[in-house]
This record gives sequence, C-alpha cells and structure tokens, in this order.
Amino acid sequence: MNFDSTENQDMISAMVRDFAEKHIRPSLMEWDESQEFPIDLFKKMGEIGIMGVLVPEQYGGAGFGYHEYIKVITEIAKVCGSIGLSLAAHNSLCTGHILTFGNEEQKQIYLPKLASAEFLGAWALTEPNTGSDAMRMKCTAKKDGDHWVINGTKCWITHGISSDVVVVIARTGDLLDSHGMTSFIVDRNNPGLKAGKKEDKLGMRASETAEVIFENCRVHESMVMGGVGNGFQQAMKVLDGGRISIAALSLGIAKGAYEASKKYAQEREQFGQAIANFQAISFKLADMATEIEGAELLTHQAADLKNKNLPMTKESAMAKYMASEVCVKVANDAVQIFGGYGYTKEFPVEKYYRDAKLCTIGEGTSEIQKLVISREILN
Ligand SMILES: Cc1cc2nc3c(=O)[nH]c(=O)nc-3n(C[C@H](O)[C@H](O)[C@H](O)COP(=O)(O)OP(=O)(O)OC[C@H]3O[C@@H](n4cnc5c(N)ncnc54)[C@H](O)[C@@H]3O)c2cc1C
Repeated sequence: MNFDSTENQDMISAMVRDFAEKHIRPSLMEWDESQEFPIDLFKKMGEIGIMGVLVPEQYGGAGFGYHEYIKVITEIAKVCGSIGLSLAAHNSLCTGHILTFGNEEQKQIYLPKLASAEFLGAWALTEPNTGSDAMRMKCTAKKDGDHWVINGTKCWITHGISSDVVVVIARTGDLLDSHGMTSFIVDRNNPGLKAGKKEDKLGMRASETAEVIFENCRVHESMVMGGVGNGFQQAMKVLDGGRISIAALSLGIAKGAYEASKKYAQEREQFGQAIANFQAISFKLADMATEIEGAELLTHQAADLKNKNLPMTKESAMAKYMASEVCVKVANDAVQIFGGYGYTKEFPVEKYYRDAKLCTIGEGTSEIQKLVISREILN
C-alpha cells in the first residue's frame, strides 16, 4: 500500500490551508466564544468546491475521492475543529446519503445545490433516548395517500436550525425490525419541520447542534430514498463513510495541537534552555508524531477500500476509533506542554482540547467502534 500524497492532493491541501488561514483563523475564537455558526463561510467554501468534495462533476461537485476528502477535512480541522465538523457532516452525512441512495431525480434536485452551498445539509438519526441504539428510534412515518406523515424529535443534529434540507431516518415498521426504518428528504420550508433547542457545548461551538422536531410533517412519497424499509441499512453504510470523515477531523485537530506544541516547546525556555530539550517533553512529541502517523495510515487504508467500493466496516471503525482516541491524547499532551499558558484562551491548545472530545463520541462512540470491530474480527 502506498498512500503518498499525489501532486493534485498536495495542491488541494495547500489551497484549503490558505483558505483556512485567510477565512477561518482570524475569527475562530470569536465564533467559539459566542457559539456563532458562521453560515456565510460555508457559502465561500461552496465557491472553492469543498462543499461537494465527493459529488461527481455531473452534479456540480468536485468529483474527488476519499483521499482528497481526508486532506480537505484535515486542513480545515487543523485550524478549527468546529468548521471541520460541520463540513464533514454536510459532505458525508446529508450529501453522502443522497449521493449513495437517492434516485436520479433526487440527485438532480439536491446534489448541485448542496455542492455549491446554495443548500446546507443536515442528517437526522439520533433521538433523545436512542443514540448508540438507533434501532429503537421512536420517530415515526405513517403512510397517508401518496404522502408520509413524520412525527417525532431528533436531537444533536448538526445544522438542525440552519440547514435547507434534512435527511431523516424514521420508523415505518415494527420496533427492533431492522427493515422497519425508512429515509426521507425533507425541505426546510415544510411547515411540519421545526428547529428545537440549540445545544450549548463544551467544544465544537461554532458548529451548530440542535433538535429537529417533526410535527405532522407531510412528505411526498417521491422523497423516500432507496425504498421503504431500507433506512437503517442505509444509515449504517453512510456512517461507514462518515467514520472516515471523523477520523480525518480527528487527524486535523491532532495535527494542529501537535504543530502548535512542537513550536512552543522549541521556543519556551525553562532552566536556561528550550523545554524541547527535556526528554519528558520530546518523548511526548515523539508519541504524538508516531500516533498521528499511525492513525493517518489507518484512515487512508479505509479511504482506499471505500474508493474501490470494497467492504470497509472494520477498517473505517478502526480508523475512527484510533484517530479519535489519538486526537484526545494529543490535545491533552499539548495543553501539558504549554503548561499554564495552555490553560488559557490566549493560546490555541485549550480549544483543540475542548474540540477533540467530540471525536470519540460523534458518529458512534469509541465503545461502539470497538463493538463493530470485535463483531467483524470474531465473525
Ligand atoms: C456535536 C455533536 C454533533 C452530532 N451530530 C449529529 C448529527 O448530525 N446527526 C445525528 O443523527 N446525530 C448526531 N450526533 C449524535 C451522536 O452521533 C451521538 O451523540 C452518539 O451516537 C452517541 O449517542 P448518545 O449521545 O445518545 O450516547 P449513548 O448511546 O447514550 O451512550 C452513552 C455511553 O454509553 C456507551 N454505550 C452505549 N451502548 C453501549 C454498548 N452497547 N456497549 C458499550 N457501551 C455502550 C457509549 O459508548 C457512551 O459512552 C451528534 C452529537 C454531538 C455531540
């Protein structure tokens, strides 16, 4: 396996890095403090083609593969995890679901708008009482003539308020029947779709997270994706790809924290010398560099399989599990290297530390990744 960057991937990384330095770095602490979701930034990201990274050019996207996608998410998350999370949710959850399971008409309607950022996407699976255990979801969709009527509440939804289109998975059959759920595309202007409470979060504060409420929400049957009863299987497949994006998000945050602490360790002097000269510090940096590279290889391995359309449930779970745990550890060590300064908002590592934790929770916790991996290896 050779995952060396191609010239094109290096160009994409450089372009996204420049964008992040120019449009994200100057305002990220302001957005973080106020929990502002900078929606105009996403329009700009649409202009440079990163709102539809995986969408084929025929639907207005960039037409890239998963290796390029990892580069994009990583470069954004290196600067700001929140923006990386929102970009990942838009690209691989909402857009990814329509791209993979939508019919031609649905793709023609939604993909060009999502790829250009005319539309912002949301993907709604989680409910207040069903996170890891999505199969017990309570949100229902009942048939009424040529419409479905959706009722229920989804929570923790990225872009739950600001999205223009929501992909929702709702119960259309019996509880615990894995073919008892169906996915629907719902437009924001549907009167039965309402935004609920916005969460006040520890980290990822510039990424909007909110409840989405369905009250007698009537959706035409043409907005069902991939047949009635297939929603759960579709969601699991979407999450396989989504795990690559959370692994890339984790890599970005970890790299940002590592680079900041490496620079600081070479500049900060104690006992008459740079603290990087102390083995206790240089070994931390060595662990960080090694673990980041290990996680990066696993992430590109999952991407390679995904690009080839090969099974990758185990590999994407391994990549997500390792990259997110490495991210939390690296961010923790980065704060330690900065000492007291790392505990303040004057320096970037406290934000990496807060943002990092989401990576071991969102799109399947570390415990759930271990469940997936153990099922696959014991199969
Ligand atoms: C910032 C943010 C953004 C999000 N965005 C979205 C989104 O856009 N769309 C969406 O649908 N969801 C989204 N989520 C929801 C997210 O996917 C869930 O939070 C996650 O799946 C965990 O579910 P839960 O929070 O209900 O935890 P729970 O499932 O209640 O888990 C609680 C704890 O129990 C453990 N646990 C649960 N079951 C088992 C088991 N069988 N074995 C061992 N341990 C177990 C978990 O690992 C965890 O440690 C988001 C969450 C956050 C925080």
